[in-house]
Amino acid sequence: MVLLSFINPLSEEGQEIVKEKGDLESVFSSNDELIYIVTHDKRQNIDDDSLIPESYGDLAIKRIQWYIERKNNKDFNNDDYSYLFNEEITEADVISFHLISQAIATKLNPNSREARFFVESQGKIIEERLVKLPEQERKEIVNRILNQLIFQENINWKFLKELVASKKISLTDLVLDEGNIILDKEDFINRFGDKFKDRAPDRMYEIIIGDSIKELILTKMIMQNTENYLQKIREMSSKIEVHPAISELSEKIAQSISELTSKYSGFYGVGGSEGSMKIGKLIKEAFPPCIATTVEGVSSGGRNDAIVLLLTSFVSYARLYPAIFRNEGVDVKVSDIDPNLTITLNEILPLIYEAADNCSPPLFDDQPQEKINITSKLGFGMYENPELDHEGETTWYTPMSCEKIKMHLPQLCRPDKLCAKIGNPLSYYSRAKWLMEKEGKSANSINSNNNSNGDSKNNNNQ
Ligand code: SF4
Repeated sequence: MVLLSFINPLSEEGQEIVKEKGDLESVFSSNDELIYIVTHDKRQNIDDDSLIPESYGDLAIKRIQWYIERKNNKDFNNDDYSYLFNEEITEADVISFHLISQAIATKLNPNSREARFFVESQGKIIEERLVKLPEQERKEIVNRILNQLIFQENINWKFLKELVASKKISLTDLVLDEGNIILDKEDFINRFGDKFKDRAPDRMYEIIIGDSIKELILTKMIMQNTENYLQKIREMSSKIEVHPAISELSEKIAQSISELTSKYSGFYGVGGSEGSMKIGKLIKEAFPPCIATTVEGVSSGGRNDAIVLLLTSFVSYARLYPAIFRNEGVDVKVSDIDPNLTITLNEILPLIYEAADNCSPPLFDDQPQEKINITSKLGFGMYENPELDHEGETTWYTPMSCEKIKMHLPQLCRPDKLCAKIGNPLSYYSRAKWLMEKEGKSANSINSNNNSNGDSKNNNNQ
């Protein structure tokens, strides 16, 4: 039977392994036992030495690499990381899990993109490990781990409220009765057996609940516990000195993630027929009329919404993630593209603040709290300035569509010819940049030619 810690490295068994065998002096030392397991895995590709983790630290980095490669590389080969699904690797894997946790929590931060990749990779590793287990063993281990994670007989849905609040699980994924989550087959049949007239209740249990809900809860709970574990280490880390090996590991993890996210930059800014969907400097000359007008300052009604809702989302996505609408469903945060917030603090916010100052009256003069709302719309919670520690407390607000702008801020919409071909200002911006590049026109001439309504105010300011 596979060890519980192969699925849940935070189990007591996992903690014992770390106590016994986790030695910070040997994080990057060559580990013969690990190399032996990896190179003797039947499916593992051993043609390329760089695929073989030689130390616990190396394994820690490769765990996250596997996740990013698997998600983005269309030529991904499972056999390059086959060892990750070999139960013989459990001890080394548990140690590497705890090393990553320390490296991220102490030197990076629990809300960083590194933390997010780590937690997501842990969820995917669990899913794939479970799939590869023989059916009976899979059922048994899921039940044993769930018994450890959930000790009450009647599990009230509030027990999973952290998972629901963090959107890891939806209440619609669960079967509830009187507020209790129904997972057990006997319990299900007792409660609902007489409600099924034409079908056998145990068959209905397999269809409605089966093993999939249990595995979903188990996976999401371990992901949530991993996040909580990072927070706990973070809180404790102020009282202890970080070991140099952990500092080195955190640098290597951050570097590896940066290299991989650059390699798969299509994920962060898809090219396509309009090649200018890539991340790039802001080109004001390609702003659509509604945005150009807002940058000049809004004096009439709608001032606050124009700056906080329209401009903040437009400028941040135009600068960092113009492919948002092509990659719908992909969860991206500002720090995924701007890890140190250099662009956010030096390019995006200054433009928004300048526009706020151009308003009449200047926005922050009478409504200084709107700075907090701008931070919030970038996804950094309710604070005056964006800080990585608070990222994820609110959601990065997506750009408004033309339809919404016309409805809520009609005074800003002064469409030109290009507006006829698009549905939101971000598409206008990408198309205008693309046309500028394609036709080799100067920035101003593009807008002059497109601006059919001869809005001199816009032209003068571009
Ligand atoms: S049509 Fe859309 S992009 Fe053009 S000015 Fe109106 S709101 Fe802006």
